[in-house]
Parts: sequence; C-alpha cells; structure tokens
Amino acid sequence: MASGSCLCGEVRFAFDGEASVQLCHATRCQKATGSAFAAEIAVAPERFRWLAGEELVQTWTAPLLERPPAYQRSLCRVCGGPTPLLHPEVPWVGILAGSLDEAGGVRATHHAFLDQRAQWLSEGEDGLPRYGMRPPRP
Ligand SMILES: [Zn+2]
Repeated sequence: MASGSCLCGEVRFAFDGEASVQLCHATRCQKATGSAFAAEIAVAPERFRWLAGEELVQTWTAPLLERPPAYQRSLCRVCGGPTPLLHPEVPWVGILAGSLDEAGGVRATHHAFLDQRAQWLSEGEDGLPRYGMRPPRP
C-alpha cells in the first residue's frame, strides 16, 4: 500500500498495489508543478481511496490544446498543494508522486516528453528509459 497527503495534511489518500512513476517533462507539467517535470502515477480507481479531506479537493481544467481529455490539476483548497485527480473522462486516478508519504511499491520507470525538457535542466542520466514524446503503451 502507498499513501500520501497534501501540504497541510487535511487531504489524505491511499492506494493498493504497485505503481510506476512517469517523469513527464511536457511544458504543461512544468507549468503545473513549477518544476522540471511532473512525477506522475496513474492508478485504477478501484485501487484508490480517500482517507480524509475529499471535500477540500478542487480541480482546475486548462484550455484544451488538441483533443480531450483536457489537462487538469487538483489542489487542496486549504494549502494549494497537489492532491489526487479523479478525471471523469479517463479510467485512472492521477497522483503526483511528490505527495506520497509512504511509497510502498511505487518506482520511477521512465522519462517522457523530453523534447520539451526545461532549458535550464542539464541532460542527466539516471538509467531510466527516456522518450522524447509520449512513451509506447506497455
Ligand atoms: Zn492541504
């Protein structure tokens, strides 16, 4: 089991089983996180559960660039920290790995959208597969 929380701790969640973390360098993920990449986890909804504060989660939708689903982020209304995103149009829960308190069976697996890598980020090598765009489906 893995579990996490927002900055203030009012929103808490958990999920069962293993999960992979995509390190996504897409421009929108840089904007949404204020960082070089978003460390993203996608978990099937039946493996996910809120432990507290679900009512404090606010979801923001970005203007659609190409095709649905639109880019979305969920934040805690109290602290503005990232929270899990239950997207109505896709069959998974999106979680930023930085919000985890207990990582359980969660491991980083690859970099994605490196063609949009931040200009200030050096070309690091961490042994993970690297994709310029969206990685191939497993
Ligand atoms: Zn919070």
